[in-house]
Amino acid sequence: MTAPYLGNPKRTIEVLQKYEFVFQKKFGQNFLIDTHVLDKIVNAAEITKEDFVLEIGPGIGTMTQYLASAAREVFAVEIDKVLIPILEDTLQDYENVTILNEDILKVDIRKLAEERNGGKPIKVVANLPYYITTPIIMGLFEGEVPIDSITVMVQKEVADRMQVGPGTKDYGALSLAVQYYAEPYIVANVPPNCFMPRPKVGSAVIRLTRHEKPPVAVEDTKLMFRIIRASFNQRRKTLANGLKNSPELSFTKEEIQNVIAACGFPEGIRGEALTLEAFAALANAFVKLR
Ligand code: SAM
Repeated sequence: MTAPYLGNPKRTIEVLQKYEFVFQKKFGQNFLIDTHVLDKIVNAAEITKEDFVLEIGPGIGTMTQYLASAAREVFAVEIDKVLIPILEDTLQDYENVTILNEDILKVDIRKLAEERNGGKPIKVVANLPYYITTPIIMGLFEGEVPIDSITVMVQKEVADRMQVGPGTKDYGALSLAVQYYAEPYIVANVPPNCFMPRPKVGSAVIRLTRHEKPPVAVEDTKLMFRIIRASFNQRRKTLANGLKNSPELSFTKEEIQNVIAACGFPEGIRGEALTLEAFAALANAFVKLR
């Protein structure tokens, strides 16, 4: 196995020119060209020779080379078929890498972890395509995939949303979902000049370390997330109105008022003021109504 050689602008341009590669905007293609950032991501993921790593969107294989040098096995899923022969070239010296040409949203990752890692927790590392950050992260958590941690490059604003609490404009359903399943930690902010081509927005590396046990006791998690979505769908409305207007919920106005009072919340409270603990208490109180 050779040491990673991609990761700087010169090498990246050489590969792109050799294959006359044309960037596809629709696939969110912004390739990393900064070795310090690559080192930071791989260090933050704390990869060891025991680890099975899933990489989403390997591009021309830049980060894949770093991951393969650190891990036992890397499984990389790339949607763009034009990149497959390039990856076969740049990763030819790395025997512990498997490339799959597929849309990550169509991959049964739970089965993959079962087959390739004996069902033990996997690590996910990626410079994510920004247009599908939320479905990818939520799919990993809600799909009951055994996960140790997810260390990913995302849009800076999305990283902020994942780690804030109530009382800020960024707080929402994504914050609560991420914090229910994991402990978020922003590793680094990354400026546009670390990518080719440069994205229009700032980026950040965030590590989500999966909780062994959720931080709150919830009897019906699906119901709690329906309540959370209903509360943030109409941000300017009260919690009671948000719950009443949700197509996903069928509680009467009276039931909603009773539950809000039983939890000790003021009548006109807004969903954006509630903590994860408060949403758990609310969901558990609705379960009791059944
Ligand atoms: N990892 C590379 C790097 O850091 O240089 C490339 C990162 S680039 C931001 C995102 C990559 O994800 C691209 O290679 C893109 O083709 C791929 N991609 C986009 N949508 C995808 C999907 N649905 N499934 C798998 N890969 C996808």
